[in-house]
Amino acid sequence: MPYDSLKALIADLEKDGSLQHVPIEVDPAWEVAAVMRRVFRMPQAQRPAVLFDRIKGSDLPLVVGLYGSRRTYARILGVTPTRINERWLHALAHPVPPVFVSGGPCKEVVLRGEAVDLTRFPVPTWTPGRDIAPYIAGASVVTRDPESHVRNVGIYRLQLKGRDRTGLNINPPQHIGIHSRKYRARGQPMQVAMALGADPVVSMVAAAKFPPDTDEFAIAGGLRGAPLELVKCETVDLEVPATAEIVIEGTADLEHLEPEAPFGEYMGYMSPQRLNPVLRVTAVTCQRRAIFHALLSQKPPSESSMLRGISNEASLLGALRGMGVKGVTDVHVTEPGGAVMHVVVAIQKLHPAHPREVMTAVWGVRPYYGKQVIVVDDDIDIRDPFDVEWAVATTVQARRDLVIIPDHTGRRSDLSVEPERRDQDRSDKLGVDATRKWPYPAPAGAGPEHLARVEARWPEYGIREVERE
Ligand code: MN
Repeated sequence: MPYDSLKALIADLEKDGSLQHVPIEVDPAWEVAAVMRRVFRMPQAQRPAVLFDRIKGSDLPLVVGLYGSRRTYARILGVTPTRINERWLHALAHPVPPVFVSGGPCKEVVLRGEAVDLTRFPVPTWTPGRDIAPYIAGASVVTRDPESHVRNVGIYRLQLKGRDRTGLNINPPQHIGIHSRKYRARGQPMQVAMALGADPVVSMVAAAKFPPDTDEFAIAGGLRGAPLELVKCETVDLEVPATAEIVIEGTADLEHLEPEAPFGEYMGYMSPQRLNPVLRVTAVTCQRRAIFHALLSQKPPSESSMLRGISNEASLLGALRGMGVKGVTDVHVTEPGGAVMHVVVAIQKLHPAHPREVMTAVWGVRPYYGKQVIVVDDDIDIRDPFDVEWAVATTVQARRDLVIIPDHTGRRSDLSVEPERRDQDRSDKLGVDATRKWPYPAPAGAGPEHLARVEARWPEYGIREVERE
C-alpha cells in the first residue's frame, strides 16, 4: 500500500506537479470555489490537486481535488488506471477487518468544551451567494447501527452552524438514515464521528454504496492490503482512523430538527432548505500541523462525482458478476450524470437479447442508478463519450434498440420528475442497445498497432498542441 496518510499522499503528488500549492491568501467565502471550478474545467487527466497554503481567517491549510482524476485515484491504489476495477473487486472479495490501536497522530491535539471552535477551520462556501453557509464537504461520517452494532462510514454534507454546531443532512434511504430511524425509535440521540484527511482509501470506501451492514473500514483494509488502524474517540463510543488529520465528535439530537441548506448539490442544482438534525460537537482532535481536507461537491465536473463514480463502477461490476451475469467486461458511471444517472456497460455479446439482460440486471442490482443504461460492444472505450456516441450513431435504430420502463425506482432529487410526483421516488428507465446486431466492416483509420508505434517516437515529429488564448 503506497500511502498510509494524507501527508504521505500529498508529498508524493507534489513531486511531479500532480499537487500544486497556491501561495497567496485565498478567501474561503467565494474564491476557493471559483479557483477549483476553474481547475475542474481542465481536462480530467491534467487536473492537479490543490493545496491552499493560506486561507483567510484560518491557520490551517486546505487541500482540495485529491480525487479529481482517474490517474490520482489509481495512484492511491498503487495500480494503473486500467486496473482500478480489478483492485476494487479483489478488495470486495477479501475485506480486511480494522485493528485497534491506543493512540495515533489524530490525537496530538485534543479539544473539548469551550476550546472547540469549528469556525477556525478553513471551511469554504462552495456555491458563493447561494449556499446558506460554509459546508464541511467530504468528511467520512461514522455512525453505528444500534441493533447490529455494525458501523457505517459515508460522506454526508455538514452545514457549519457555529463554533460547536453543524447541520447533518440525512436522507432516509442512506445507511445513516437507517441508523437515525433506529436511534429515534429508541428515544436516543445518535453519536457521530467525522474523520477528515485519513488514509486516502477511506474517502474511496466512504463514497461508495454497499449493502447495509457492510463495514466500510474492512473494505478499506482490503484496498490497502493491510488492516486500517482505528482509535477510540474521546467522547463518543465510535472509532476513527488513527492517521486522520482532524476528527470531529458529537451527538445528533434526532427530535429537534432545524432548517438546513440551501446547498449546491452534486447533480448541479441548488438543493432547497429542509429540516435536519443538528450535531452538537463534543470534541475535536487533530494533528499538530493539521491539513483540512475537502471534496469539491457541485455541478459536474466535480470531485465528488469523480470519486463516487469510480468507486461505484467497481461495486456495480462486482454486483453484476455476483448475480451471474455473463460477458460484462467493464462498467462506467459517467461524470456528467453526477455519477448516478448514466451507466455505460461494455459486453462481449453472447446472444441478441444479452444487452437487455444486462440492462435489467443493472436496474435490479442498483435500482437508484442508471436512469439511462447504454450497452456497447467491448471494443468501444466506454470512458470516452465521443466513442460511446459513435457507437450509438452507428448501431441504434430507435424503434428496435430502445427500452423504456416507466415508473421504475428513482431519486427524489431528480428534477426531471414532475414536482407533485417527486416524493414517490419513481423514475422512467431508458436502455439503449448500442451493440452491433450483425457483422460490421472493419473500423476506419490507423489501428492500435500503428498508433502505438507513432506514440513511441512522438517527440521526433515536433508536433505539439496549440496553446489556448
Ligand atoms: Mn454504508
